[in-house]
Amino acid sequence: MSACTKEAILQATNFKVGSFPFKYLGVPFSPQRLLASQFSPLLHKLESTIQCWMGKHLSYVGCLELLMSVLHGMVLFWLAIFPLPATIINHISCICRNFLWSGNISGNKSVMVASKTEGGLGLVDIKARNISYLAKLLWNIHLKTDSLWFQWVHHFYLRNQSVWNDGFKKSSSPLWKSILFLKDQLVQECGGHSQVISLMQNWQNNANSYTANAFEHLRPKGPPVSWRKIVWEHWSLPRCNFVLWLALLGKLKTKDRLVYAQLYTCCVFCSQTDESHAHLFFACTWISTLWGKIKSWLRINRHMNSLCSAVRGLKAGGKSLETRMRRLSLGLVVFLIWKERDRTIFGHTATSVDLLFRQFQITFYTILYFHDKNPYAFNVYD
Ligand SMILES: [Zn+2]
Repeated sequence: MSACTKEAILQATNFKVGSFPFKYLGVPFSPQRLLASQFSPLLHKLESTIQCWMGKHLSYVGCLELLMSVLHGMVLFWLAIFPLPATIINHISCICRNFLWSGNISGNKSVMVASKTEGGLGLVDIKARNISYLAKLLWNIHLKTDSLWFQWVHHFYLRNQSVWNDGFKKSSSPLWKSILFLKDQLVQECGGHSQVISLMQNWQNNANSYTANAFEHLRPKGPPVSWRKIVWEHWSLPRCNFVLWLALLGKLKTKDRLVYAQLYTCCVFCSQTDESHAHLFFACTWISTLWGKIKSWLRINRHMNSLCSAVRGLKAGGKSLETRMRRLSLGLVVFLIWKERDRTIFGHTATSVDLLFRQFQITFYTILYFHDKNPYAFNVYD
């Protein structure tokens, strides 16, 4: 275009000459691969949001809820637009896990990103989610969806050829290269492009959204755990679920895990032996008395000597009052033991087994009454 034509267009439209990268709806656009520094608005937004929340005063469950709703919402907006560089994905994951475990953005904490089915917290795997959006773009290109961008792709890149036969060129845009790279990966995994098409057709036909199905296929998976529905019982309080999850994984900060701090390691309840997960939740004589009262009240006859054996005896499925009651009672008793242990150590006040059992009964009754207006249907109350 000549300089004269350009000047005439600018005068006619009142537009100003711009340059790449420019921002549109808060995200940078460029024909070249974006530099890591150009993702700083997203990182700054995440960091400033976390600093406003004062996470040190929030419980783990509060931090987890904020992570899942607000932070991931901000990130998903960017993920749906273009592929994020690995360094940015790592940086976002680092911000999220530090917030969850320490309430601020510094440090280097670990987090379970895995799905709840595999014993994790169910946080979104950012990389897999990013690829699932690319899979949706690939599917729409295959379908020749009637929108301007897909029509432009067919005209400019594919020249009316099939996307399954196209290979990327050095001059292709980063987004186009990422889509074709994913296509090659899927073809290699499935054994041919017709198999990939039928796989993607299944994602389309499934009841969940297309990206949710693609994400489920593309995310890294581990062996499933049998206790997911027990630990994350919907009727239970989220904080009870979270403490039970940590206890089952042996991740609560019991004194045997804090030997480097040179603390007084004896159990605060019985003062007879060192505090550990196995001792605190079952072997302790003080706690055994509490378990005896709870089992008798709930009419549980089976022998339990560890958290694993307690979980093994519970039904993972079922929505009857009795099965729900047994599941929520485990989370509640573990939470109350852990809370009482903290109160005794840091508040320097001890309670009796009878009072703790009474607290269990009141909380248990309150939860049941909240969910089931006729809690007396299961007659455990005296
Ligand atoms: Zn003890």
